[in-house]
Amino acid sequence: MSVGAGFLDQVNRSFDRAAALTPHDPTLLANIKACKNLFYTSFPIKRDDGRIEVMHAWRAEHSHHKLPCKGGIRYAETVDAEEMQALAALMTYKCALVDVPFGGAKGGIRIRPKAYSADELERITRRYVFELVRKNFMGPGLDVPAPDVGTGPREMAWIADTYTQLRPGELDALGCVTAKPVSAGGIRGRLEATGRGVFYGVRELCGVGEDMKALGVAPGIQGKRVVVQGLGNVGYFAAHFFVEGGAILVGLAESEGAIADPKGLDLEKVMAHRRERRSILDFPGATNLARREDALELECDILIPAALERQITAENAPRVKAKIVVEAANGPTTPEADEILGRRGIMVIPDAYINAGGVTVSYFEWVKNLGHVRFGRMQKRFEQGAYGRLLQAVEGVTGRRFTPQEMEQLTHGASEEDLVNSGLEETMIGAYHPIRERWKQQQGKTDLRTAAMIVAIDKVALSYEQLGIFP
Ligand code: NAD
Repeated sequence: MSVGAGFLDQVNRSFDRAAALTPHDPTLLANIKACKNLFYTSFPIKRDDGRIEVMHAWRAEHSHHKLPCKGGIRYAETVDAEEMQALAALMTYKCALVDVPFGGAKGGIRIRPKAYSADELERITRRYVFELVRKNFMGPGLDVPAPDVGTGPREMAWIADTYTQLRPGELDALGCVTAKPVSAGGIRGRLEATGRGVFYGVRELCGVGEDMKALGVAPGIQGKRVVVQGLGNVGYFAAHFFVEGGAILVGLAESEGAIADPKGLDLEKVMAHRRERRSILDFPGATNLARREDALELECDILIPAALERQITAENAPRVKAKIVVEAANGPTTPEADEILGRRGIMVIPDAYINAGGVTVSYFEWVKNLGHVRFGRMQKRFEQGAYGRLLQAVEGVTGRRFTPQEMEQLTHGASEEDLVNSGLEETMIGAYHPIRERWKQQQGKTDLRTAAMIVAIDKVALSYEQLGIFP
């Protein structure tokens, strides 16, 4: 079985387990589970040395119950039809959990991006967009990509530029893709959104004293020992916010290997070391682990796999020592591993919920693009004036004068970034409690993943029921 096929089976098994606990009609459930559109294309590109190479690319649209569809674009050697369908389905459930009004999608090209120059990657990206647009698989009201493994703001800017060239005069064209650089129509706070969302979600669940007591750990983030696998967009920012919140980074893994230090690793220094040496290994004061996977088995409170799918398996799950596994990556735990972790009393925070911060802020970016105005632009000064007048009234009543610094701090109007982070925090906190309630209702008979899936299925089922069937 290919990695992609195994992953699709993993997502579908998780769906089936949850679906069996819902009252919905089996036909409706089958309709929700099925991928609606699957696009495959192959196209030639010219390498810098003049050779021609054929690319294989996909886009899966799992659900059209809400439009547009939304999901990242992955550049990796594992990309195949099944991997895209698995990731697209996860996007549907993820969007439903955080009330982001999109159907799920995912796209990808089967390449090892490091083997291509920036110019080659640009040609590949632009041709892929051309193929998607030609087949109606892209557009602000149809299907809106974002980054995933192997892509980032640079690729998103190329995508936006290609789309706008192909659709001259389309007023909402910039809403065709999200996580663009801010100067190309992006939104402040998107780059770090997934990692920040992971932090907000974990902080919220670690705040529930009763659940932490059951795990045998103290509530809160302060002093928690954390291990992160993958220092890309999601892993780096997750690690950053955990450190900012008072956690101790006791282990880090990257593709070249893993390091550990029970006293705590300095994230920024490790990143600088990696930039200089092209490796996190041999970081001063830290121990190199024999294999990069060994990081998953380190003594810690919170383990954050933030690299790729299928990292915690039946083989290593019995040796995981964390109390909480946080699925910052998509699908890092196989169903067999999930069962083992569950039996061992380890709390697994499912991907569909915990890494939803990225799509949440992508939604804000799309709304900004359709609104053609930066969030905060209209009200920031107005708020500052209103707070200033309020403070002057307080000064009048109390006779106390605020210092200029206090005045500045207290009258601060919300910037775009403030509003984005506030919306993200509200979303991650708000989405956790319905999942936890479902989990508690099942009285120990199920886990958070199944509970989250039930919540997602209920929402998608309601949409389909209300929409009816055409014709
Ligand atoms: P990325 O390419 O920026 O980072 C992935 C990192 O993992 C890279 O630094 C890579 O070198 C490292 N890595 C690869 N194999 C590894 C291994 N075996 N051990 C340790 N490290 C390894 O990708 P990303 O955007 O951070 O995505 C990571 C995961 O998060 C993926 O599963 C993705 O689907 C998921 N995700 C991403 C976003 C987002 O907004 N970027 C949102 C939700 C979910």
